Amino acid sequence: MRGALARFEPVIGLEVHAQLLTRTKLFCGCANRFGAEPNTLVCPVCLGLPGALPVLNRQAVTLALRAALATGCTVHEVSVFERKNYFYPDLPKGYQISQYERPLATSGSVAFTLADGAERRVRLTRIHMEEDAGKLLHEGFPWSGEKSGVDLNRAGVPLVEIVTEPDLRGPEEAHAYLTALRAILLYAEVSDGNMEEGSLRCDANVSIRPRGVATLGTRTEIKNLNSFRNVSRALEHELARQVAVVEAGGEVLQETLLWDPDRGETVSMRSKEEAHDYRYFPEPDLPPLVTGAEWVEEARRSLPELPAERRLRLATEYGLPGYDASVLTQERAVADYFEAAARSSGNPKATSNWVMTEVLRKLKEGGRGIASSPVPPAALAGLVRLIDAGTISGKTAKDVFERMWATGEPAAAIVEREGLTQLSDDSALEAIVAEAVASFPEQAASYRAGKTAALGWFVGQVMKRTGGRANPQRVNELLRRALAG
Ligand SMILES: [Zn+2]
Repeated sequence: MRGALARFEPVIGLEVHAQLLTRTKLFCGCANRFGAEPNTLVCPVCLGLPGALPVLNRQAVTLALRAALATGCTVHEVSVFERKNYFYPDLPKGYQISQYERPLATSGSVAFTLADGAERRVRLTRIHMEEDAGKLLHEGFPWSGEKSGVDLNRAGVPLVEIVTEPDLRGPEEAHAYLTALRAILLYAEVSDGNMEEGSLRCDANVSIRPRGVATLGTRTEIKNLNSFRNVSRALEHELARQVAVVEAGGEVLQETLLWDPDRGETVSMRSKEEAHDYRYFPEPDLPPLVTGAEWVEEARRSLPELPAERRLRLATEYGLPGYDASVLTQERAVADYFEAAARSSGNPKATSNWVMTEVLRKLKEGGRGIASSPVPPAALAGLVRLIDAGTISGKTAKDVFERMWATGEPAAAIVEREGLTQLSDDSALEAIVAEAVASFPEQAASYRAGKTAALGWFVGQVMKRTGGRANPQRVNELLRRALAG
């Protein structure tokens, strides 16, 4: 693959569908909620019963506007809902209400950072609003072997579709863009970004072309990418497949592929449909959507500080390296947590280290969000202050942190009760050092004979005798003195 990519350039565009965080669906009053009993959140409108008429959800438009503004798109004062006609069992009306000719917004961009720190930017073609379809249930029921079920709770849930230009040059860029986009949607409270529950889904348009050639190759579209890992795997697989086809003298066919995560390959779903196959026409039951300046301004005012701005601010205000700032700002709640802890500890870099390593690790292990961390920011700051004051060693601090996580107790209480205070007091340490030297006369003699490595061995002995609580620098000094004498 590496060699092939020296000859061929990947060209990738992504279409992200994000469910909007509204209370109700896009055109009816049914609840927009994941996980309910199948077909309990439905009504004549979202079931597509004859005579039922759609009414547009204002909050959905406000959230779509926020998504557009947060990605620098131009919002169009007038956009038009259209019917996208196709038959599928999870689409009871036989068409999906979407936007086509006149979308809500066009031409924005999203900046993202690669693992090596390189900055990139992907152009957005458009953001439009549409309704979600229902869901086919192929497994999990006693009758699943013989038939499939359909759950229409999701039918009519509001979505924004965010379409990029074919600007992405490989799986790593696609992954980094998705990470940045998800962070923006979460910050702006447009979507919960939960890929497991399907509130963020992605289709990819993929082609290759010989390096140095400007024209685009024939593309395939991969559907059903429902995790970051699957996006990377599917793109890698599809790029390798296209290179193999071209190198064998064949041609890539324009088709729609389905990613099968269990088999780790793409399977052909249908030859690619063209827009005219959908017979789009303006939705006769809805007037054009007019978003005046006031509405757009209201949406703009409701936007919080976005990830890119916050990353810059954390780097300058707290003197953090760019890497730290980018990890800490991926989730708004994590950045909030860090800022609260750093202000209270007075040591931003040490606080950043604790958040990025221990706190995020424990959260990941427990599969929980930072809002439910058993160690709140003030408690983490307390731990950092104990280390900075020399009260506990860095090694002890790790154990104390584990106990804080398990019990929710503050660091100082654990240190006090369990007598974990670092031994920096010379008189106490001197006795232990003298005892260690006296217990091992042979090692002491070899040190005096010039075998300086024995010093490290003695440090180990003293640390053992103090249960790891001694200040290693003091131990070193006291040992040198004792061994010299
Ligand atoms: Zn409904």
